Amino acid sequence: MKIRQMFDNKNTVFSLEVFPPKKTSNIDTIYTTLDQLSELKPDFISVTYGAGGSGGIGTGSLTAKIAGDIKSKYHIEPMAHLTSIYTTKPSAHAILTELQELGVENILALRGDRMPEREPETDFVYASDLTKYIADFGGFDICGACYPEGHPQSASLIEDTIALRHKVDAGASHLVSQLFFDNQDFYDFRDRMHLAGINVPVEAGIMPVLNKKNIERMVTMCGASLPKKFAKMLARYENNPEALFDAGIAYAVDQIIDLISNGVDGIHLYAMNNPKAVYKIYERIETILHASNRA
Ligand code: FAD
Repeated sequence: MKIRQMFDNKNTVFSLEVFPPKKTSNIDTIYTTLDQLSELKPDFISVTYGAGGSGGIGTGSLTAKIAGDIKSKYHIEPMAHLTSIYTTKPSAHAILTELQELGVENILALRGDRMPEREPETDFVYASDLTKYIADFGGFDICGACYPEGHPQSASLIEDTIALRHKVDAGASHLVSQLFFDNQDFYDFRDRMHLAGINVPVEAGIMPVLNKKNIERMVTMCGASLPKKFAKMLARYENNPEALFDAGIAYAVDQIIDLISNGVDGIHLYAMNNPKAVYKIYERIETILHASNRA
């Protein structure tokens, strides 16, 4: 099923994101994670693509394999991430063919980030170039990434919004947002989208704080700002992992309830391959999700 259709059938789509295990880890760990996550019956599960394109070059790629298994073994719709920065047109063609053979119909088309030690390929400059390529290839529903606080490389929010418009015009039928900790940033972003005539559904990306190190790494990478309330929570419980975990879950739940109450099209939970955190959040939003979808 194409994910775009889900937004026509539901007020609030609920999805999860997992990442393939590192090369040094046992591949089976992802299946233990998926065994548990699949019981929650999310609308779809997305699978990230290794930074620098390591997750998907050629056949047998881990991202494609896991996405294919999510469909065939767990009977849940998968969305495979694909980055373009280290992808040539022939390798994109091979990956799309592989995904098609595996029955994967949904792709999150991304540019990816440059690795300091590696020159990018030149076939695709922006995610919108890959989006157009996939749209011309045919058969896939394409999602795009968006940034409530603007992408760190955008000179202004206006430039960021224009780039997003290009992405949607190139064929992205829905969007998933970067993580954010202040819902107002998301609501302001939604207003800018609508002013720019971008009217595709957008899911809010929510990342629970599981430990201080992981959140600091993510915030450095993506440039999300930390509201006072959030920074105080980190500072207060940084030396007590259990308390920080529980406070992080409560913060994410609070964000999600507010977003659903404000008519968000979907919640995309960065599950971090951590079923315990996802279960804790899900049990506290389940009735709210169901109520929203019955309304
Ligand atoms: P783009 O949309 O190409 O944007 C990059 C920059 O270029 C922005 O500043 C934008 O404003 C500008 N720009 C875009 N188009 C134009 C244009 N036509 N003219 C001028 N400027 C333009 N990374 C991974 O490696 N693997 C993953 O699996 C992965 N999953 C992600 C999932 C989500 C939901 C998100 C939000 C990010 C993910 N990323 C992933 C990170 C992502 O690759 C980086 O954020 C990257 O820096 C930008 O990717 P993009 O697709 O948004 O790029």
